[in-house]
Amino acid sequence: MEDQKKLSIYNTLTREKEVFTPLHPSYVGMYVCGPTVYGDPHLGHARPAITFDILFRYLRYMGYKVRYVRNITDVGHLEQDADSGEDKIAKKARLDQVEPMEVVQYYLNRYRDAMQALNVLPPSIEPHASGHIIEQIALVEQLLENGYAYESEGSVYFDVIKYNKNHRYGILSNRHIDDMLHTTRELEGQEEKRSPVDFALWKKAQPEHIMRWPSPWSDGFPGWHCECTAMGKKYLGERFDIHGGGMDLIFPHHECEIAQAVASQGSDMVRYWMHNNMITVNGQKMGKSLGNFITLEQFFTGQHPMLTQAYSPMTIRFFILQAHYRSTVDFSDEALRASGKGLERLFEAAERLQRISASEKSTIDVRGLQQRCDEAMCDDLNTPIVIAHLFEACKAINLVTDGKATLSADDLADMKNTFHLFMDTILGLQEKTDTGGDLDAYKKAIDLLLTIRMEAKQNKNWATSDRIRNELAGYGFTVKDTKEGFEWVLT
Ligand code: ZN
Repeated sequence: MEDQKKLSIYNTLTREKEVFTPLHPSYVGMYVCGPTVYGDPHLGHARPAITFDILFRYLRYMGYKVRYVRNITDVGHLEQDADSGEDKIAKKARLDQVEPMEVVQYYLNRYRDAMQALNVLPPSIEPHASGHIIEQIALVEQLLENGYAYESEGSVYFDVIKYNKNHRYGILSNRHIDDMLHTTRELEGQEEKRSPVDFALWKKAQPEHIMRWPSPWSDGFPGWHCECTAMGKKYLGERFDIHGGGMDLIFPHHECEIAQAVASQGSDMVRYWMHNNMITVNGQKMGKSLGNFITLEQFFTGQHPMLTQAYSPMTIRFFILQAHYRSTVDFSDEALRASGKGLERLFEAAERLQRISASEKSTIDVRGLQQRCDEAMCDDLNTPIVIAHLFEACKAINLVTDGKATLSADDLADMKNTFHLFMDTILGLQEKTDTGGDLDAYKKAIDLLLTIRMEAKQNKNWATSDRIRNELAGYGFTVKDTKEGFEWVLT
């Protein structure tokens, strides 16, 4: 690394902030649990995607080559999130009378569209659980061979009690097996297990179960936790840097992943475990039954009884970044409106910054902006502090624009650079347009049109000048004439 930025991240496993030291000098392997694709993408999908997008972007900016794996769960995620109930995707397929893979493709397309709208960069690899049945069967075979799993009625279970004798089950979630044994309910259809804390590695499919694969034990399907252990190992190796996901995945999912890794290969695969906190809506947990379940599309269109207007994907992104990823975020219509206004202020300042001309010297102190932003990012990705620094910079920009202060060429260049770097490259906040093309090219095209309009005015060609202004207004552009020339915004 050419500079000496030291990134600290909070490791859920050690419960401490640690200086990030990758296993390889210039490469980072990162695995994040992706969506289960059986429903429309909602806020619960947006938060981990945006959190780890920020990490992905920052690591790349630090100079690392990052292999970012985010899986697609398309099998084995059961109704009760335990080892019983119907597969969620299979159930949806049965209700809609389509192939399960049609359900997966339909919601995956919608998920990807929403992520693109939120300016979440696509990961390096997006493996499907259903495409890695062979690897999952190999994992189960290894666990059986090592004596940490047992077969029962065509299904295979992980022997938690035995594992806990030699290792610690609960190391990540800070739970103790005695408490778990005390609180785990004996669910119906689980009498195949030796202990209620055991979890499924392979499930024999019931006759009506449509998603099934042959295995040495039965026609069936893998348990949910197997996929991440198997695919993480396949694409990132037996030991890799970062494993992330939402806090709700710490137990049982990630706890089980650690147990599977340790029991199959003797050690955990992961160096840093990272988890984003959850989202509440008006102070309540989001849930379909609570009537406060809002899909991303509903936010983008404003079509929900709890919303008074549509919110752009960038407003949603900005809102999420205004909280630290380990704090809860509470969504409300009011808070979102405030975020939208704040973001507009930042975009306006960034626009004005482009139009400022340098003076001989600076009359305000704007030095160290980039360093302060970097320090905040290096402190466990503290995006709210980065945003606070950018708002501070807005004040300076406005002073200069109002003629109350000046900036030297160096300071101006520094500020432009920092704004571009942090707004665009790192926080991924882009003024959204429907051009679908390159934003810079589009801005230049509008600037060109307005320059032509200025020339027309100088030549007293009012017809052309009015036509450009009026037609741009028709597309939603507000044009303002200024001393230097013009300013425009798209509203
Ligand atoms: Zn996972």
